[in-house]
Amino acid sequence: MRLVLDVVLAVTLLEASVLLYSVYLHRSLAHGALRFRPGVNAVLRFVAPVVTNAVLRNWCGAHRLHHRHVDEPALDPHSPRVYGRLRVLLLTPRLLRQFRRRTTPRIDLIAGDIPATWLDRALGHVLVGSVIQAWILQIFLPVLDSVGIVAATVVGRVLIAGSVNNLHGGRGNGPSTIRNSRLVAAMAWGEGQHAHHHVAPSELAYTVLWSEDPGGAICRVLVRSGIASKESTPLVASKS
Ligand SMILES: [Zn+2]
Ligand SMILES: [Zn+2]
Repeated sequence: MRLVLDVVLAVTLLEASVLLYSVYLHRSLAHGALRFRPGVNAVLRFVAPVVTNAVLRNWCGAHRLHHRHVDEPALDPHSPRVYGRLRVLLLTPRLLRQFRRRTTPRIDLIAGDIPATWLDRALGHVLVGSVIQAWILQIFLPVLDSVGIVAATVVGRVLIAGSVNNLHGGRGNGPSTIRNSRLVAAMAWGEGQHAHHHVAPSELAYTVLWSEDPGGAICRVLVRSGIASKESTPLVASKS
């Protein structure tokens, strides 16, 4: 029974972190599709790195470069054509770290609007975030269960990130490795609609159907309820 509860908790935490990735890091910060109210943004700025294990500026900068240079060697951080499908599936966070080391000046330039203090960088470290999450969980659960749940969510996020960047399926438009997958979209709050997203990256939603892009549906609810506003000026255009 305890194992079932642990699995349910791990899946819940994993999906919560992927939702935060999709709505906050990806659609809001990286693409400016929506802007959260200042108070909400102040909380998300510190909660999101801990939960997603992402340094905000590094992730957004690398992602904006990915949009501009799909499948270009050295400029797309996680192209299956450049790095191979297995490496992208299993090692996307490592590829992103290596990419950041090689391209820090470009990342700072293209994502200069994203905060990058020492605290932002520390909170986004996988060890720091995992320790904080496990410490909070162990208030309610045995320590071993807490560590196991956090470790499972880290592995789950790696596989979901690898799957989104590594799709087989509908091509959308163009010859790149970018594809759509309803299965991955269902697991990742719409992020599997990768080809649709690249056509119009600053749109709130990737498709009009909420069932194909539940993250987009949540964005619409956030805008309607006043928690966020829809941006009219896109920060990043698709590859020109
Ligand atoms: Zn992409
Ligand atoms: Zn994007």
